[in-house]
Amino acid sequence: MEINCTERELFIFKKIAHAAEQLQVPCYVIGGFVRDKIIGRATKDADIMCVGDGIELAHKVSSLFHNNPPVAYFKNFGTAQIKLDDLEIEFVGARKESYRDNSRNPEVSPGNLEDDQLRRDFTINALAVSLNAADYGKIIDPFNGLNDINKKIIQTPLDPLQTFSDDPLRIMRAVRFASQLNFEIAPQTFEAIKKDAHRIKIISQERISEELNKILMSNKPSIGFDLLYKSGLLQIIFPQMVDLAGAEYIDGKGHKDNFYHTLQVVDNICENTNDLWLRWAAVLHDIAKPATKKFEKDHGWTFHGHEVVGARMVPKIFTKFKLPQNEKMRFVQKMVALHLRPISLTKENITDSAIRRLLFDAGDDIESLMMLCNADITSKNKQKVKRYLENFEIVRQRLIEVEEKDNIRNWQPPVTGEMIMEKFGLKPSRIVGDLKNAIREAILDGEIENTYEAAFQFMMEKATALNLTPVK
Ligand code: ATP
Ligand code: MG
Repeated sequence: MEINCTERELFIFKKIAHAAEQLQVPCYVIGGFVRDKIIGRATKDADIMCVGDGIELAHKVSSLFHNNPPVAYFKNFGTAQIKLDDLEIEFVGARKESYRDNSRNPEVSPGNLEDDQLRRDFTINALAVSLNAADYGKIIDPFNGLNDINKKIIQTPLDPLQTFSDDPLRIMRAVRFASQLNFEIAPQTFEAIKKDAHRIKIISQERISEELNKILMSNKPSIGFDLLYKSGLLQIIFPQMVDLAGAEYIDGKGHKDNFYHTLQVVDNICENTNDLWLRWAAVLHDIAKPATKKFEKDHGWTFHGHEVVGARMVPKIFTKFKLPQNEKMRFVQKMVALHLRPISLTKENITDSAIRRLLFDAGDDIESLMMLCNADITSKNKQKVKRYLENFEIVRQRLIEVEEKDNIRNWQPPVTGEMIMEKFGLKPSRIVGDLKNAIREAILDGEIENTYEAAFQFMMEKATALNLTPVK
């Protein structure tokens, strides 16, 4: 075998070869699995292509395993899947594809190995390994994919304009692979991407978002986002992000380029977390800077309230990208809303109450928030960075101390709305909310102690001032 496989994989491939021989169909491992093995990347699925009926081959393979693993198959697509331990194997017959202009659905007809390799998107994705007796284990590489892997180049096997016009999703895939693998897109291929970028509009949002998420999950997403930007794709799929780019000057005063700042923040946070949603928070943390930008004579450029406006933009953006409208989205909103808080605490105002408030507002997401703020420090001014980091360390220390002392993270005030309603015979109403908030604020501000007795007494005083009388 000319690629490095585990014992288990070799065992499985032998079985598949055996089944294919019995059916007398030539068969190959092809595509992403071969590419990733050569690069040395983790793989969890393998595509098996046979010159014949993929579903029939899958059933044959299953019959050769004593536990007959189930075959999931899709007659319409002519594909079948078998799951063996943690390896997912997909079977498909070799295909020849021809496309019409405005659809991603090609005319498909049975083909041979060469036809099937020709319909692949990139040379590095068109490599096949033979599972046939005559040349078992040999790599079949008609487009110099091996060479491109060595040179870290992404290019199409055919004329790129042809490949992209057949299926514009490949445009996003090119950028995604460049970002995941840290490869370069060949100049001719990149020119075609620029030219065909507008055709991404015929691709469903789900697929575009899937690629975007894969870019965001790569080690250095700035590679992918920068390519999206430079190719004109970003303008089409995510214009709000393009609005961050560039710097305006008035009276010789400029502001930083918030697009490249954002990319730096994203790369920074990716060194510390694999959480897709925290990565999204980094993408979106300054998204409202363009909308809130002002030039003030005395202060220069300001972006007042961009964290609030930005948090409000999150649901719209999540809807557009068909990302979940659930606690993941609310987490991203919260991160955007709070991203200035830790760093805006200066030595003088790192009071217990400021720390308690931060803990209360961030709750269990405080660690994520601190990570985002840390990633947000991208200034080139060494003095400034040093000051920020020192300040940040003080905040961190104080967060630990105050949390130990007051346990605010998952805290609820000791007197609840229900207790207030019961005490004064009230229905849910504004006044109950006001009382409840007053108690919470008094505790967070350190005006009263964080105990039931203190909160109760405080409530009674406030209630008297409001002419409320207890019913019991
Ligand atoms: P990953 O699994 O990381 O997404 P992959 O390259 O394995 O990467 P898959 O979507 O699993 O991508 O597809 C498997 C193979 O099928 C690819 O390696 C490629 O050869 C081919 N392929 C997938 N999508 C396309 C496409 N849109 N156009 C042409 N070939 C494609
Ligand atoms: Mg794959």
